[in-house]
Amino acid sequence: MERQDTQDREKLAAGWRELSEEVISGMREWRDGHPKATFREIETALDERLSRLRAQMLQDTALASSQADWREQPKAERPTCPECGSPLQSRGQHTRHLAVDGGQEITLERTYGTCPKCKGGVFPPR
Ligand SMILES: [Zn+2]
Repeated sequence: MERQDTQDREKLAAGWRELSEEVISGMREWRDGHPKATFREIETALDERLSRLRAQMLQDTALASSQADWREQPKAERPTCPECGSPLQSRGQHTRHLAVDGGQEITLERTYGTCPKCKGGVFPPR
């Protein structure tokens, strides 16, 4: 299990390194094509590239921390309803899309829960 975690982390780090390289080479190429760019234009070009790396790191990190599934946990340790405090009932994994800075969107897998009393549904934060 722990070994699996290490492998997953290595894989994530490799992906992030690859994206970082794309930021660097992308900026070099862009600079060659825009030798007279203003400070503002350079900033925009850099932000565009960094936002992709940022979104990917955000998604990967959030996914890794949500992998601990609370479905099998005893009732007392399960997340509770924000309205009434009852332990939530798991409704399985659902995909959630979040808009983040830089016009990027990330996708998260979360265990969705409903409250047996209020009947409301929530994605408990992890
Ligand atoms: Zn409730």
